[in-house]
Amino acid sequence: MSRECIFCDIVAGRIPAAVVYEDPGHLAFRDIDPKAPQHAVLVPKRHIETLLDLEDEGEAGRLMLAISGAAKALGLREGGFRAVANYGPDGGQEVMHVHFHLLGGRRLGWPPG
Ligand code: AMP
Ligand code: ZN
Repeated sequence: MSRECIFCDIVAGRIPAAVVYEDPGHLAFRDIDPKAPQHAVLVPKRHIETLLDLEDEGEAGRLMLAISGAAKALGLREGGFRAVANYGPDGGQEVMHVHFHLLGGRRLGWPPG
């Protein structure tokens, strides 16, 4: 857990969120500022700052499986979705607790803006 981390606060239940998926190590909840009809944020419950700080293969693998679990829980298997992790100034990461955005429910443009 990290002090002053909004996603740690959500994991701990100190800040409310609309949870759409949970497993022992992960939580997915609806993004407060959705960019698509379906937009959830998936986080590991443990505080890890960025994608580049993932070091444990098991932890990284379970995170990938949690993306799959959250996408299925959101009903995105048929229509499709995009899973995105932002990093750094060009990527635009704002919350420093690693997370994947799951976006779906409309046709997403490519390349992203
Ligand atoms: P990023 O720019 O990749 O760091 O994305 C952070 C995301 O977290 C943004 O899409 C925000 O809308 C979202 N967000 C920030 N605060 C909350 C919150 N309290 N509940 C749900 N989503 C949030
Ligand atoms: Zn955190």
